[in-house]
Amino acid sequence: MVILEEAEKILSYGETCDHCLGRFFGKRSFGLTNEERGRALRISLFLRDHLPYRPPGQCWICGDLFSRVDEWADRVIEATRGIEFERFVIGTRVPPLMAESEEIVWSDLSLAHAEPLKSEMNREVGKAVAKKTRKTADPKQPEVVAILNLAEEFVEVQVNPLFFYGRYRKLERGIPQTHWHCRACQGKGCEACNFTGKQYQDSVEELIGRPVTRLFLAENAILHGSGREDIDALMVGTGRPFVMEVVSPRVRVRDLAEVEDAVNREAEGRVSVTLERWSTREEVEIIKSTKGYKKYRILVEIDGSYSQEELQSAIRALKGAKISQRTPIRVAHRRADRVRERQVLDISITGEENSMVILEVTGEAGLYIKELISGDQGRTEPSLSGLLGRSARVCSLDVVQVQGHNEGE
Ligand SMILES: [Zn+2]
Ligand SMILES: [Zn+2]
Repeated sequence: MVILEEAEKILSYGETCDHCLGRFFGKRSFGLTNEERGRALRISLFLRDHLPYRPPGQCWICGDLFSRVDEWADRVIEATRGIEFERFVIGTRVPPLMAESEEIVWSDLSLAHAEPLKSEMNREVGKAVAKKTRKTADPKQPEVVAILNLAEEFVEVQVNPLFFYGRYRKLERGIPQTHWHCRACQGKGCEACNFTGKQYQDSVEELIGRPVTRLFLAENAILHGSGREDIDALMVGTGRPFVMEVVSPRVRVRDLAEVEDAVNREAEGRVSVTLERWSTREEVEIIKSTKGYKKYRILVEIDGSYSQEELQSAIRALKGAKISQRTPIRVAHRRADRVRERQVLDISITGEENSMVILEVTGEAGLYIKELISGDQGRTEPSLSGLLGRSARVCSLDVVQVQGHNEGE
């Protein structure tokens, strides 16, 4: 019988435990553990040769690692104490020498059905942890990854991030969306930035992230916004869609309404949020690539005198117009110089303030609003300034609405 001869050859390499012996045939005959396979093969050999049964000595491959499965399970439980999770997965860092030992036998004997030590260890410790904790071993969507570092005899723990979806409003000017390194020291900390390493004390990300980090006992919180507004623009109306990534949270079970309350209380009217639901890593990619329309409210200053009729007719000409825009001078240093076409979906006069005109503009994603008004020295065509034949500029710009990826037109 070929399999017994193979088992005999394997045993000639040195003392081999039932787990390691059975694992060489791990992908044959399901419904057995490797230990059962190994023990069955060993017993069969003794029976064939009319020899008295003798248990194996210390295993030359694993050093009897599998007799310590329970001990490693306890280490996992200890290392994850204080972390809230239901689904976990075990990983194993196998010392190179240990992996090499079994690989030598695989290739010497051309064994086609062997399972690596790593996967048996992951599975057996996973089963033991699940039994002791009533949590679930789930390799597809684990919340916690526990890695058995066999050489150094300890368990490394990685806590997978949490994601939630919401919208934010920015109600104060001068707050960037994410934190900027101090220009003087590039984030190292210097006198100019009061040793904070930051150009601005707060960002939308930090105003939302601070209470989030605390409530989830997390390491950090990262804001993934659907685009961003200028630092001096407000974001009002229904707010800008975002997904927040909570990094390494020790608490996972939280009512989002409670998180929303905490953020809104602590941001003190500078930023406010609506948190809608839990989200995923996949949605981060979607939200960052969404090209929805945007609606702005702008305050426009126009030089010299002009009649209401002239202004009305210029606005009519812009409504629905395709605007050809060469990369604006103000961003030319960081973007490729090219001409693009974007549509003004809607534009209307909504009022006046200090002899300036208030306009509401809805533009296709990527339309440069400041240049639509100023003309950018002829680089944007048509423009309000060009149509009026006098210079015009945006004095303040607020984002009123950003279309989310899950909304229709
Ligand atoms: Zn072994
Ligand atoms: Zn600095």
